[in-house]
Amino acid sequence: MTATLVTGIGELTTNDPELGRLTDAALVLEGTRVVWVGPGARAPDTDERVDVEGRTVLPGWVDSHTHLVFAGDRSSEFAARLAGQPYDAGGIAVTVGATRSAPDHVLAATLRRLVREAVNQGTTCLETKTGYGLTVADETRSARLASEIVDEVTFLGAHVVPSGWSADDYVRLVCGEMLGAVAPYARWADVFCERGAFDAEQCREVLTAADRAGLGLRVHGNQLGPGPGVLLAVEHGAASVDHCTYLTDSDVDALANSDTVATLLPACDLSTRQPLPDARALLDAGATVALASNCNPGSSYTTSMAFCVTTAVLQMGMTVDEAVRAATWGGARALRRESGEDAVGVLRPGARADVHVLDAPSVAHLAYRPGVPLTHAVWRAGRRVR
Ligand SMILES: [Zn+2]
Repeated sequence: MTATLVTGIGELTTNDPELGRLTDAALVLEGTRVVWVGPGARAPDTDERVDVEGRTVLPGWVDSHTHLVFAGDRSSEFAARLAGQPYDAGGIAVTVGATRSAPDHVLAATLRRLVREAVNQGTTCLETKTGYGLTVADETRSARLASEIVDEVTFLGAHVVPSGWSADDYVRLVCGEMLGAVAPYARWADVFCERGAFDAEQCREVLTAADRAGLGLRVHGNQLGPGPGVLLAVEHGAASVDHCTYLTDSDVDALANSDTVATLLPACDLSTRQPLPDARALLDAGATVALASNCNPGSSYTTSMAFCVTTAVLQMGMTVDEAVRAATWGGARALRRESGEDAVGVLRPGARADVHVLDAPSVAHLAYRPGVPLTHAVWRAGRRVR
């Protein structure tokens, strides 16, 4: 196996509690893993050597919340929203129609294009969800296509109730035949707990069934108003509750005293003209925060994790270090991939070699130079992809 020494690192963010942040550092990658991290002066000899000439290096972004299996375009809905129409979950039906009628190769091509777009901006681990099929066949197909392309697949049959169904009948389908068909392709199940989507009791049924089927749990909650999503997620031991735009003090307390990650999706809040979540309250209470893109054609059509980090710093009161950690380690934690073999969101021996080189002397430049594409080089699982 060829080993590659990445040297000349001006500032290295590892997210490892013992290694911390290093200056004048080096990394050795071998196969898919990081095998050595330390001061440049003590780096071992290797076959290949890449000098990054003083640039900053951090783990690749871990985007723990996207919806990339879709067809169609909703830019006119976006324009109408900017002209004053409020966002509701109803636009999802438009994407469902387009997705159902698209052939496999069209869905796969869109998915690959968006993954490539994300990777080119430093994202090295991606989760994506089903949820635009909403039939047994279409949800299974979405999960199968996603499982061939992304790192983590989530079954979101409970996205909205499709037309022609009563909510109760649809929940029964999701918890029964649909879950059984999709589970082989997914590690996670998710439910959209929101007015216009699913209520607390329906969510509870989906989460209980998914848990029984051996899937890990995630929840879309508290996006458009206060609601039961956060408490349900905590109660069911979900890995993450995502959005968290409207939180009560007891929601914040519950998150701080649980293993459930609060995943914030600021690009979505901006695109739907919602307030931004109170990241400060969550962090100060001791909750674990992740940042993700929520890339989808309706409410957040961006793959840019750097944009989310910049927004978190400039508009949500997070420090640069908190935001960078939330978009790397936090995302990994939300996917339960931050430790053990093949860990992501962290650079230490044994972790996956997901390396993001910024054309900047420090991570502070992500906020200091908003909107500037700073990604200089990317390794994903040891392979140079940019
Ligand atoms: Zn979402």
